[in-house]
Amino acid sequence: MISATLWEQLMFTIGEIAVILIAGFLIFSTIVVALSFYSIKKGHFYFPRLVKSGITISEGMAKGLCKFFGLDDKELTAFSIRLHNAMNLTAFSEIPPEKRAVFLPQCLRSASCPANLTPEGLICRRCGRCEIGAHIDILERMGYKVWIAPGSTLIKRMVKKYRPEAVIGVGCIIEVREGLELLDKINLTGMGVVTLKDGCVETILNWNDLMDVATLGCGSEN
Ligand code: SF4
Repeated sequence: MISATLWEQLMFTIGEIAVILIAGFLIFSTIVVALSFYSIKKGHFYFPRLVKSGITISEGMAKGLCKFFGLDDKELTAFSIRLHNAMNLTAFSEIPPEKRAVFLPQCLRSASCPANLTPEGLICRRCGRCEIGAHIDILERMGYKVWIAPGSTLIKRMVKKYRPEAVIGVGCIIEVREGLELLDKINLTGMGVVTLKDGCVETILNWNDLMDVATLGCGSEN
């Protein structure tokens, strides 16, 4: 049987370990936040691996807290996407559009879209029923390669085949978040643009949001 003193000692040690872990986590989070803001201010991404993994860990905990207090964690994800974009801004701007790619989600199409599905995604027929066709033309004139992706498998295949140096991923908040994580893993500069309305059909994009990102470094951004 454990004596009262031994039990107290055990509890004390557990308490000490917990305090050390919490303090360590707080110090680590502070370093990550400081590095994030310093990177944004300087326009250069310092210690990207440390910062990105730090954000992922801190975000996991923040999400847990949001859930515990019954708060919506979507804002947190939106913030992490904005932070990610801000950190990649300089690197992205330095890559010419000819070496960039855009992936549009197929849900942006009209419900009566006549596009054909091919091994390289959906090929827009410029029918005018949605805004995709007109914007693909603008982006391609700028030098971009553009795909309408039915899923993330196509993105992986096209990135492997055409080897762009930077990617703009458009999608709902979760898709963009996952896409940016995927691009980080393969060391590609990624920028995310989130749609205004989620769903599977006729989702809505503020096309100016996409063009604001697409024109970065082209001398024509606002
Ligand atoms: S413009 Fe292109 S993507 Fe849009 S509905 Fe027509 S064929 Fe489909």
